[in-house]
Amino acid sequence: MQMLLLRAVPYSVLIAPFVCPCKQQVCASKQAIRKFKEPPKFTFSNQQTMKLTAFLFLSVLTVATLQSSCQNKAHLSENIDVASTNTDSLTIEKSTNPYYSHTDTSTLYISNAEWKKILPPDVYAIMREKETERSFTGKYWDFMGKGTYYCASCGNKLFRSDAKFASSCGWPSFFEQLNPQSVVYQPDNTYGMRRTEALCGRCGGHLGHLFDDGPPPTGKRYCMNSISLDFEPDK
Ligand code: FE
Repeated sequence: MQMLLLRAVPYSVLIAPFVCPCKQQVCASKQAIRKFKEPPKFTFSNQQTMKLTAFLFLSVLTVATLQSSCQNKAHLSENIDVASTNTDSLTIEKSTNPYYSHTDTSTLYISNAEWKKILPPDVYAIMREKETERSFTGKYWDFMGKGTYYCASCGNKLFRSDAKFASSCGWPSFFEQLNPQSVVYQPDNTYGMRRTEALCGRCGGHLGHLFDDGPPPTGKRYCMNSISLDFEPDK
């Protein structure tokens, strides 16, 4: 019996904190535990509820706006990445392009999937996906050789070098297209701007944009991507 009591002493030390000597103390302990476990109850007045709702609405609106802005920036940076490619390394594979011709003027209706098999990646990105090369990086922006500029995708005649002028924009610029069928147009309202897109009259490939701030006699500025052009010098 004595041994049994001695063994029970350590266990009584462990149990003691949970056994109160009186009923009142037991209740106080339970209340303390309950206060610890239960979260505090908050009540909102109508004014506070309206403020909280307005705050959440503005937060959601701000996050949505930032996300949209980032997507636009990402798309713009994608343009820059494509455009930063060294255009000197580009070669227009005319021998493997069955649609390339300086004499055939028939309109082409070729799918982008087909063009993707034929065109170099940089030409495809700009002419079929309407990307833009970075200014002052193209091989023709400050080039003044005498000759003819053709479409890099289909060989359609686009411009004569006589119509090219030195522009400070960083892209090859012309004030006149070679003939009425060379270049066609369509509205371009992307990136929050209203512009006129210039496309090849034969294959519909993206060339650049047309502006009304060019020199006489036309007052037009055909702002082109070098990658969309294929130059052949006069013989
Ligand atoms: Fe073309």
